[in-house]
Amino acid sequence: MNTKNIILTCILGIILIHNSCEKREKNKHYPVNRAPLLPSKLVKLPLGAVKPEGWLRDQLIAQNHGLTGHLDEFWPDLINSAWKGGDGESWERGPYYLDGLVPLAYLLDDTRLLHKTRPWIEWILNSSQSGGWFGPDKNNDRWPLAVAMKVLTQYYEVTEDPRVIGVLKKYFTYLLDNPPDWPDSTWRGVRAMENAVTGYWLYRRTGDPDVLKVVKSIFDSSFDWTTHFIDFPWDTEALNKNEIPHNWKSDGLTAHVVNIAMAVKYPGLWYQQSKEERSKNAVYQGIANLDKHHGQVGGRFSGDEHVSGKRPTQGTEFCAIVEYMFSLEKLMEIFGDPAFGDRLELLAYNCLPGTMTPDCWAHQYDQQANQVLVSDAEREWSTNGNSSNIYGLMPNYPCCLANFHQGWPKFVEHMWMATHDQGIAAVTYGPCRMTAKVGDNVELNIIEETKYPFDGAVKLTLELSEPASFPIYLRIPRWSEGAKLAVDGKTIKTKPGTMAVIERKWQTADVIRLEFPMNIRTETRFNNSVSLLRGPLVFSLRIGKEYKRIKLKGRRIRSIDYMGSVDWEIRPATPWNYGLVLETENPEKHISVRKNRIGKLPFSDTGELVFLPNAKQYHPWTEEAPVVLEIKGKKIPEWKIKNNSADDPPPGPLRSNQKIERLELVPYGCSRLRITEFPLIDL
Ligand SMILES: [Zn+2]
Repeated sequence: MNTKNIILTCILGIILIHNSCEKREKNKHYPVNRAPLLPSKLVKLPLGAVKPEGWLRDQLIAQNHGLTGHLDEFWPDLINSAWKGGDGESWERGPYYLDGLVPLAYLLDDTRLLHKTRPWIEWILNSSQSGGWFGPDKNNDRWPLAVAMKVLTQYYEVTEDPRVIGVLKKYFTYLLDNPPDWPDSTWRGVRAMENAVTGYWLYRRTGDPDVLKVVKSIFDSSFDWTTHFIDFPWDTEALNKNEIPHNWKSDGLTAHVVNIAMAVKYPGLWYQQSKEERSKNAVYQGIANLDKHHGQVGGRFSGDEHVSGKRPTQGTEFCAIVEYMFSLEKLMEIFGDPAFGDRLELLAYNCLPGTMTPDCWAHQYDQQANQVLVSDAEREWSTNGNSSNIYGLMPNYPCCLANFHQGWPKFVEHMWMATHDQGIAAVTYGPCRMTAKVGDNVELNIIEETKYPFDGAVKLTLELSEPASFPIYLRIPRWSEGAKLAVDGKTIKTKPGTMAVIERKWQTADVIRLEFPMNIRTETRFNNSVSLLRGPLVFSLRIGKEYKRIKLKGRRIRSIDYMGSVDWEIRPATPWNYGLVLETENPEKHISVRKNRIGKLPFSDTGELVFLPNAKQYHPWTEEAPVVLEIKGKKIPEWKIKNNSADDPPPGPLRSNQKIERLELVPYGCSRLRITEFPLIDL
């Protein structure tokens, strides 16, 4: 290939994509925002355009063999769900479950899972009434319908079943014909703008101006998150004065971790219609305020389950992780800012796997950065119950059990997006295969081979129905100073925190190679503690563990003996109270990196997936981690457990006459007990 054909631009991604939108036509292969909406910077590909490969596919298979693939067989709330005609639960649990089951089924092309989705989808489609309302008769709350609509849109993207458009149109007509009903004191009120996700999706396909009228009426008559994020009231001062409202009224709902994680995208969604810089600014200020006052390592913010500050033992509810991820996926689509991709990877590759067991049979309600004891005991949560950090079926409250399923499938769904100059953009990295229309109606496959996030090498091999000219955008993470990008053997310079773009004539068998430098870096955290990161991975102390099967009992908790369902208590079998011997400016001086293979899923002879706690298994998120950091540390005898959590890390650097010991750190996502925010030892 003639290198003169390579036109390479590498400037700030936002500006670059922004300019391309203004200069050129809109993407002509996929539904895009129509006037008067602003064009989104990137365009979502339909579900199924990106398929998982390698370890990422194994992760979805584990989910299939775990709770997502079996929960509907034994959880009464799903077995008898009114969302498929039963006489049971009629609110959010059925739609929540489907919001993950449907994309999982189509991403794996799994007949058994697809078969499971059908009775639900058919029942929901047939439930549409003449006035436009749909869903179970006994539900009169608009909130679960907002979730059910997200399910239908995903189903439509694969099947193009025209009934979906009919049901959605009728429901938006219902919303137009009936008075706004979004009180701040209700879930449907503080989450009202979730309807805009589907509203704009529908408007892209129908151009019906009534849909925009409905979204405006929802925005005007629901909680004002824009002002909330700009003048964020639940800051460190409010926390220190015990003024965070720990209630379920209108003020408490605005301090609720899941509501906030969902709402981060609301001003961004509305920006497309309002065109006000204030809407856009609210997204950035909201995230900055959450980081400043409640930020936790791994990109999350605390909320157990009201926002609860930066101490590394404060928890984050699982629902908030998957909802924050979905918000970032939508924000990436709207703004094209690679920073959202960076954060999305942090959550997906740390907080998401770290709060589940690798077999996907047990999850936590609240995860902690410094989590040295997993047990049914009182902790310093804001409002959560004693079982919240147990890895189990239904710890604390069942919402996460119903809602977590969307995390991995939607992450895969959004790894690549289309651009308005008929190109394609890599938003996040991982092993996958992408199929999309580019250029002048040319079919492009990209096979992405990589061990990312455990390794920095990414190989993209192109297959094209015919040679064609179009741009390929590649997110260059903020942390990847010196990332190498090579096309046709020619190395190209990159700039961290931007979207690099290569525009040229492509043909089958062209190869793009990316090499992200996996240097180790540090982050200063609570009480001058330090956390270690390598690429998108956060690292935690490997702690010996004693797993004990327990049965959670309580007012809202039921333990169900079924298949792989287990509640795990985990106690430390080795010391955890270490400080690190580390030069924060030059962390690699004291660290060596050891790599393990990423193995196949551990299936038994009878075809069951068998993960054993603490066994040497090479699935990415098991104890035998793909990457291990070896580092030196010293015990800090005075650092102890307080109120069933590790006490706050004593502010370092600390003098210590203890002996130097060799420590191992593993990815946060591989750890179920961990120290992630370490005191520093005075060198
Ligand atoms: Zn939850």
